[in-house]
Amino acid sequence: MNLTCGGKSTLSNQSMNFGKWILSSSIAIAATLALASCGPGASDAGDGAAGEASAERPFKVVSTVGMITDVVRNLVGEHAEVEGLIGEGVDPHLYKPTRGDLVKLREADIIFYNGLLLEGQLTDALEAQAAAGKPVRAVTELIVENPDYLLTEDGESQLADPHVWMDVGGWMKGVPVIAEALADFDPENATDYAANAAAYLEKLERLDAYAERVIATIPENQRVLVTAHDAFRYLGRAYGIEVRGIQGISTESEAGVRDLERLVDFIVENEIPAVFAESSVADKNVRALVEGARARGHEVAIGGELFSDAMGEPGTYEGTYIGMIDHNVTTIARALGGSAEGFRAEKESVTNPAQ
Ligand code: ZN
Repeated sequence: MNLTCGGKSTLSNQSMNFGKWILSSSIAIAATLALASCGPGASDAGDGAAGEASAERPFKVVSTVGMITDVVRNLVGEHAEVEGLIGEGVDPHLYKPTRGDLVKLREADIIFYNGLLLEGQLTDALEAQAAAGKPVRAVTELIVENPDYLLTEDGESQLADPHVWMDVGGWMKGVPVIAEALADFDPENATDYAANAAAYLEKLERLDAYAERVIATIPENQRVLVTAHDAFRYLGRAYGIEVRGIQGISTESEAGVRDLERLVDFIVENEIPAVFAESSVADKNVRALVEGARARGHEVAIGGELFSDAMGEPGTYEGTYIGMIDHNVTTIARALGGSAEGFRAEKESVTNPAQ
């Protein structure tokens, strides 16, 4: 039994039982260390799609959210075609797969998803592919091995917060998962994947340091981030800013009038200067906060639109993971009274000897 490629146990355990998932994940890693291989040559499943990849035919990788798609693109180079299912501005919590998505999943050689129930409505489709013997990997599989890292929703639900990409240091743990899955499938190019992963991780390390530095420029009493839904708690913990979301960690449950009133109280009492909209969530609740505060004599601005669960448009800087995080932390720092020159600007000044 090849646990490295048999994604079935992986997926169902993570979705349904946290404890079991952690156990199964350790077994999967042990299997990997024992040189289990599910590359093109090793597959005996008789599945044509998984069995015929070679250097002549780029293989196909399908991922769910853009934050994963972009990391995969940085790692595969020319060796694979990468397709993301959930586009910019689209909320993954509510996303239902289309018929076309199901075809793409079926034709994929490797599938990556976030896990922690972020893509709740895709679970059945992902499980079906894993059951067929395809590598279906949660990029959070190393993160969940350390339960202390995971944040859970306040209150009774105890669901793990899936928004781990908001902490660059946490998201970096997904990179080796992707690199390993690519190398398992296509061992011939394993050194490329390892080199690309190392180069990308080096950039992420600098991005992480930038985020920490600019959030720290916000005056301490204004270091509060109010957003449309609770997507920023890992960012808050990593970089030292208190976060308050109008909706919880999933947009599936609506915010109540009392939740809104409580947040208005908080904003007025703490003289919060700005709140933030999100590109993948309707901004009616954020506007209600602004109006509620105004009715009580406190002007709070909308400090900008953040990318929470989806990135910016494809082909733009904000349409990359690095650009998305740069945009977020730079926008937050500036709107709350800090200063931030932008990670891109920082990079340019580092690489440009004239400056
Ligand atoms: Zn979310």
